[in-house]
Parts: sequence; C-alpha cells; structure tokens
Amino acid sequence: MKPSVLERAKHIIDLTRYENEQRANENKSKALQDPSFKSLYNEYVDTMIMQAKTDQDCNVKLKKLASEIDKKLKSLKIGSIEPIYSCKKCGDSGFVDGKYCSCLIKEVNNILIKESGFEKLEDFKDVKFDIFKDKEYMQSLYQKMQKWCHSNFEKNIIFISGNTGVGKSHLTRCMANELINENYVVLFTTSFAMHQDFVKSHMTRDLELKNSLLDRYLNADILFIDDLGTELRNPLITINYLYHVINERKINKRPTIITSNLDLYDLQDYYDERISSRIIDKQSSICLSIQGDDLRLKKV
Ligand SMILES: [Zn+2]
Repeated sequence: MKPSVLERAKHIIDLTRYENEQRANENKSKALQDPSFKSLYNEYVDTMIMQAKTDQDCNVKLKKLASEIDKKLKSLKIGSIEPIYSCKKCGDSGFVDGKYCSCLIKEVNNILIKESGFEKLEDFKDVKFDIFKDKEYMQSLYQKMQKWCHSNFEKNIIFISGNTGVGKSHLTRCMANELINENYVVLFTTSFAMHQDFVKSHMTRDLELKNSLLDRYLNADILFIDDLGTELRNPLITINYLYHVINERKINKRPTIITSNLDLYDLQDYYDERISSRIIDKQSSICLSIQGDDLRLKKV
C-alpha cells in the first residue's frame, strides 16, 4: 500500500473523529447554559474527581447522575455530550490493538476506487455465469483470474482478447475490485487516452510534465489498458512509448492487464515484434481468449 494513500485515509478518519468530538463539545457548551444541567454536570464531575482521589466507590451515584444528565439533555433537546464515534470498534482512531481497523481499510479502498478510473466495479462472487454461452469455460477462467489476483504476480502481463461485448470489461472490473480489496493502487486507462498522453509527453518541452504524464502508467501497482489497438496510431510514438510502459512495468514486476479486440496474430502485425514478444512471453504472461456473443445485446 502506498503510504500516501494510507496517510490520506487516516486524515479522513481523524477528521471524522474531530467532527464527532466537536459536536459533543458544542452540545456540552449549549447544555451548560441551563443552570439545572450545569449543577448536575458539576456534581457528576466533582464525584468523579472524588472517586479518583479517595478510592471511594461512587459508581452507583455516578450512574444515577449520568441517567439524570441524559434525561435533562433530552428535555432540553440537546444531543449527547459524549462523542458518538462513527466506528465503535476504534473510536475513530483507525487502529485496534495496534492494527489497522476495518474503517481505515475501507477508507483506503474508497480512495483507491475513486482514483482507479473504473466507473464501476463488480464482485467475483456476484457473477452470474448463465449469461455466457460457454458457461463452464467462463467459470474456470474467472476462477483462474481471481486466484491470480492473490498470487505473487510472477505472470505479470494478462492479455485478454475477444470481440466487443463478450465480457472482457466485466472480467477486468471483477479483477480490479479484488485487487483494490488487497489495497493495490489500480489504474484504469483506455488505450486511446493513454496514447493521447504519450503524444503530449512526446511533444512537450516541459520535462516535469513529460515525465509526470508517463509516471502514472509506470508507477501504478496494477495497470489496466482497455481496448489496445483502438488508439490513434502515430508510428513514431505508439510503438516506442507503449514498449517503454510495458517493458518498464515488466522489469519492475508490476502487472499490466490488457484487453483487446485483437488476437495474438493481429498483435504481431499491428505492433512490432518487441511489443508482441513481451505480451506473448509464456514465462511471464497469461493470454486469454473470450469467445461468444455480444452480451450487451442480451439483457444482462
Ligand atoms: Zn474503526
């Protein structure tokens, strides 16, 4: 997990805690303006102090006073003077017994989803295989890819080919969801959009912009490239930059998941040997083919 994502998630949790505590403080100041509440409250605080100082057991009295305070607050129509934390497990601290609380992990995931570029995610467990023509094949393919999401990514290029609408995007949305739940920084791009960035990066003289346009594709833990082969090709730029991204990611063992209408033979014709050999390399790639009808024409 990138520290910056964790820090940002922690900041959101801290803010939630601050707001909840602030709300309680505001309620208290408001209630203290009422003289009978004030005397009840002061008695409660004095009793607490006395108990601490003298070791005297005042629990029964404290309980009674607390219940009177609650009643008084209700009659004044003022909310709790104790903070009501959004997460009961950690009191909005983000940690339980020195470990990340589930609320913090959820916040990390929210950030990762928001920044992934995926408009919609799907859960492997919700997939209805009846929509596919070859149900069993698809079932085994989904299982294989779900398992891959929890692997050490020895195979770090996944190439999924198939015609439009056969379910390539559906599969990648499931994979992205699974990977985000493992707290990976996931980036989705269409081949078209990425290529536009290649062109911008190539054209600019601003070195910082030049690098930053490419960095996101190089540095994301997992990169999804949708519809490879639909970019507006520029012979000078397409091959070199695409190779650079694919190769750098491969060297750094950062997985790249590519969907395309092109099959493996088209790939060799469409790009040069350097790119296709990287993608097709049996040692470190998984190449899948999804056949079937256009699912979008069916009512899914
Ligand atoms: Zn929590």
